[in-house]
Amino acid sequence: MTAITHHLPDALLDAYVTGNLPHAFAVVVAAHLSLCDACRARSEAAEMIGGALLDRIAPAAMRAGAQDRLLAALDRAPPPSVPIAASGIFPAPVMQALGGRPPGWRMLGGGIRQHILSADSEGSLRLLYIPPGRAVPEHSHGGLELTLVLQGSFSDSAGRFGPGDVETAHDDIDHQPVAGPEGPCICLAATDAPLRFRAMIPRLLQPLFRI
Ligand SMILES: [Zn+2]
Repeated sequence: MTAITHHLPDALLDAYVTGNLPHAFAVVVAAHLSLCDACRARSEAAEMIGGALLDRIAPAAMRAGAQDRLLAALDRAPPPSVPIAASGIFPAPVMQALGGRPPGWRMLGGGIRQHILSADSEGSLRLLYIPPGRAVPEHSHGGLELTLVLQGSFSDSAGRFGPGDVETAHDDIDHQPVAGPEGPCICLAATDAPLRFRAMIPRLLQPLFRI
């Protein structure tokens, strides 16, 4: 893999470490961390600072019977799920979101394919497959879009993004990512609001795409 040049912003990393990111964004952050030594070191440092703050809080006395109740609750807890390993270009957090199966691509037209991993009121998470040289329809965002490249590359007004690079696009940025010529670009994208496509036909089809 070529060197990663686009990393996670501090605010996203802090929100991830403190458990304050919606699921879709947390998966993209976890996937980047699994590929990027630099951001993993930053997240471990942030966790240590958080742990040191917790250590300074005076412990509260446990109520009578608390330990028994805790042990009983642990007995009732479901067994931890078996971790799913990385496979091919898909890091472990992506394979986890895929349920261990390869993506089932849906055609979006123009050779672009998509696999929706999750979609709820907080955001959606999907895999996108863009043929070499092909542009994703121009769109702006109602919120935040976080995109991690898994294979190939794309370029837009913010630069070139290769494997492991992550792009953070905020509100009101119109951008048109174009896949690099070296091969299909496969990326993982989290959005916290429906994308607003500019062209008429994509807008009409948007409810079908659920993006
Ligand atoms: Zn990084």
